[in-house]
Amino acid sequence: MILRYIILFLMVLITVSASPVEVINRLDQSTTELNTLSGVPGTFVSARGFSDIITSHKPYYNADRQKMVLYVGEHRIKLSAGTGFIMVGEQVYQMPVHSVLQKDDIFLPAEAFFQIIRSTIMPGIVYDGDRHILDIALVSFNITGVNIDEKANGTILRIQTRKVFDERDVSTFKHDNGWFYVTVKGGIVDTTAMKRSKTRGVIRHISADQMDESVQLAFQLRSEIEGHEFYQNSDPSELVITLRTPLSKSANRIKSVKDRWRLDTIVLDAGHGGKDGGAVGKFGTKEKDITLDITKRLGMLLEKNTNIKVVYTRDEDVFIPLYKRPKIANENNGKLFVSVHANSNPNRNAKGFETYLLRPGKTDDAIEVASRENGVIRLEDRDNDPYAELSGANLIMATMAQSMFMKESENLASIIQAELDKRIDSKNRGVKQAGFYVLIGASMPNVLVECGFLSNPNEERNLKKASYRQKIAEGLYSALLSFKESREQVLAEG
Ligand SMILES: [Zn+2]
Repeated sequence: MILRYIILFLMVLITVSASPVEVINRLDQSTTELNTLSGVPGTFVSARGFSDIITSHKPYYNADRQKMVLYVGEHRIKLSAGTGFIMVGEQVYQMPVHSVLQKDDIFLPAEAFFQIIRSTIMPGIVYDGDRHILDIALVSFNITGVNIDEKANGTILRIQTRKVFDERDVSTFKHDNGWFYVTVKGGIVDTTAMKRSKTRGVIRHISADQMDESVQLAFQLRSEIEGHEFYQNSDPSELVITLRTPLSKSANRIKSVKDRWRLDTIVLDAGHGGKDGGAVGKFGTKEKDITLDITKRLGMLLEKNTNIKVVYTRDEDVFIPLYKRPKIANENNGKLFVSVHANSNPNRNAKGFETYLLRPGKTDDAIEVASRENGVIRLEDRDNDPYAELSGANLIMATMAQSMFMKESENLASIIQAELDKRIDSKNRGVKQAGFYVLIGASMPNVLVECGFLSNPNEERNLKKASYRQKIAEGLYSALLSFKESREQVLAEG
């Protein structure tokens, strides 16, 4: 009993002591603090502080009349101390608690004040009174979440939008890997809200990706769907997608999804070959030989210790054009594509290993590596050019097709980095992104590994050693196994 009073007392103390409200701007993830009034129960926030955070326009204050005007965009918010009334534009709103004057500042009851602001001029703000967090989305998201309804014969996705999109800008796609994709051109997604959305029905997991000019929403399915339809509501503004599930789930159908999902074939791509030697070290070591050797060692480990089928894009010193490599992978029903390379840099000190994903390059370094690896195209004899220029819209298209495997590719890339890090004594340069032709068109998760720098004499010496290459192969081998395990874990849960 006494304990209960102590807890009550502590709770009162906690309410009265004033901790500032943390303000998060989701546009740049910056945080600031908003002052609150101490010594009173409940949270009262500073009007001046709020004004400072959302606008550079200084508030107007009349000390005699204890009135203040905030200027938010083209809106005026009129406040007066000691009342529950505030005016937004010409509308009067009433708060259940009176505002408080303190040192030329008006403190407003947080919950009520933010509710009024949210419903009038700033729909993007969210106040969490329990956690003392004010979330301001100064960026204007136009895709703000998804509500999922479960029905007897299916699941309805209601994607909340702040505008009506042209239906031609919305595409939906159900992939054999058990994910359903929605791409919205011109969309700006609130990824935080999207990830917070509750999963239900046939939806196991939601992920949202903001690309340069479009949004990709991915919904992982718990079971097979028979079909899907899409239409758009203008009021409320939402994209509605119905996913039809069979009334009686057929065990066979689920099994066949599992079989397609099972990681039974891995495609290993030894970079370069034949007339394309790739990078060359000071001691004459050729990238094409290093990559072929590592790939063969890796293939051997897989063939000896697992029942995974290994497909090589090349298993000897021959020239294979870049565009043919993912083609080989697709034709062999590959479930994973790993391209192995060695790096080179004008800076001889550069060293370490890094794993790339196909995506527009973020750094000059990444772009440089991509243009070097893509450079082989000059050596290819071509009648008609299979390579669209890899920039702008083309790269976006290529990466969009890719992004259905992006989550898995990211996952694989980070496992590879971790496993190599455990085994070889060099620098972990992390997971990077760039536009690689060799990764375009592979209908499976795919990565490109740069095992080390031939331009660095020390690293070249290492790469020349069979024992060092074996360690790299072993690192890649355990990465692939652990990736397979985590992927098939999902099956076991299903
Ligand atoms: Zn290369």
